[in-house]
Amino acid sequence: MTTSDVIIVGGGVIGLATALELAEQGCTVTVVDRQAVGRESSWAGAGMIPPGEIHLASPGYRQLAIASSALWPEFSARVHELTGIDDEYHNCGAVILPPADDPAAIGDEIADWHTQQIETQLLEGDQLRQTSSRFFKGLDRAYLLPGQAQVRNPRHLKALIAGCRKLGVQIREDESIERMTVQGNRLVSVSSEHEEFSGDRFLITAGAWSGFFGELLNVTLPVAPVRGQLVMVQLPEPFPFIVEQGKRYLVPRLDGRLLIGSTESLVGFDRTVEPDTIEVLQEFAASILPEVERLPVERSWCGFRPAATDRLPVLGQAPGIENVIIGTGHYRAGLSLCPVTARILSDLALGRDVEFDLHDFRPERFAEPVAEHV
Ligand SMILES: Cc1cc2nc3c(=O)[nH]c(=O)nc-3n(C[C@H](O)[C@H](O)[C@H](O)COP(=O)(O)OP(=O)(O)OC[C@H]3O[C@@H](n4cnc5c(N)ncnc54)[C@H](O)[C@@H]3O)c2cc1C
Repeated sequence: MTTSDVIIVGGGVIGLATALELAEQGCTVTVVDRQAVGRESSWAGAGMIPPGEIHLASPGYRQLAIASSALWPEFSARVHELTGIDDEYHNCGAVILPPADDPAAIGDEIADWHTQQIETQLLEGDQLRQTSSRFFKGLDRAYLLPGQAQVRNPRHLKALIAGCRKLGVQIREDESIERMTVQGNRLVSVSSEHEEFSGDRFLITAGAWSGFFGELLNVTLPVAPVRGQLVMVQLPEPFPFIVEQGKRYLVPRLDGRLLIGSTESLVGFDRTVEPDTIEVLQEFAASILPEVERLPVERSWCGFRPAATDRLPVLGQAPGIENVIIGTGHYRAGLSLCPVTARILSDLALGRDVEFDLHDFRPERFAEPVAEHV
């Protein structure tokens, strides 16, 4: 039997960042994962950190997105100082392109950024072409989002793991949690085939697999995987900023690697990376940056975004079980929302007041009548 103050089930970016936060506050913490930690969606993602949110209209969500973006510089620096590992968090800016088939259709999106007081700059004609002579041939209008940042997520995970270990967090890998023992309205322990883990409080941060724990706890938790595929090429010289066009994007790393994403498929946990999709993504990249056409694919992969039915995060106490906190459903934004989520989940675990309005994210919303949903 392993015992600690807090048991965290699922060691992706959400579980690890929360473990670090709790360990810094003096808690004993165990993170349990069914495989090596930090190898699922959090590793697979592109690491974009927008300065706000335009795709989900919930005001509560925007509040989290803006707060998290503001927390990132300090969060990254803190983990860097603790571990000596540089996660390459930096503010690179993004150029937002109109849809290829409707160049005029970008105004609403930008108006939305403005309502969030997020800085944007209109780039037109020569000004756009001068942004970089290598890109945007034939394009006349785009917007620059100077506040867009990125993190090299595999490095960030490496840093979080090292930081957790340094602060005494027990990381238990290859322990798939299959059973939960509930007594009255409290969870007493969670068990794998080999080991039982008991604690005062439990966090469920199992990403796209979280729904399974809903079943074990008899809590409605409709979180499903949305598969996303990514392609990586090595550019001869680094590319300066992120480019986004609808749900497609180019994310350049500092060493010249370029991530080309992404797709959305509801195919369960099917890990197939489709040759046709790789081609489509390459074509998209080459439409902006023609040199990509000649470059070999260095690597391609997919990951499973954890998505609740309403596409909003699920953050809060599990209905009817007082010592279980759920932290999942981050969908396309788990990396960008990780600092704010770690703060919220650790405050909840420590019984502190949370400084954010969590109404839109309450786990019990799925058991309420549909009209009550966000
Ligand atoms: C292609 C792609 C691009 C993305 N791009 C971005 C981006 O640019 N910016 C952004 O902010 N977000 C992005 N995301 C989303 C982001 O990656 C996710 O929202 C985030 O990683 C979710 O983190 P998590 O910790 O909840 O889940 P995960 O990282 O999936 O971790 C869940 C963990 O739970 C473990 N687990 C599951 N079942 C069990 C069990 N029974 N017992 C024990 N452990 C278990 C798993 O092994 C895993 O380690 C992207 C995602 C994808 C797929």
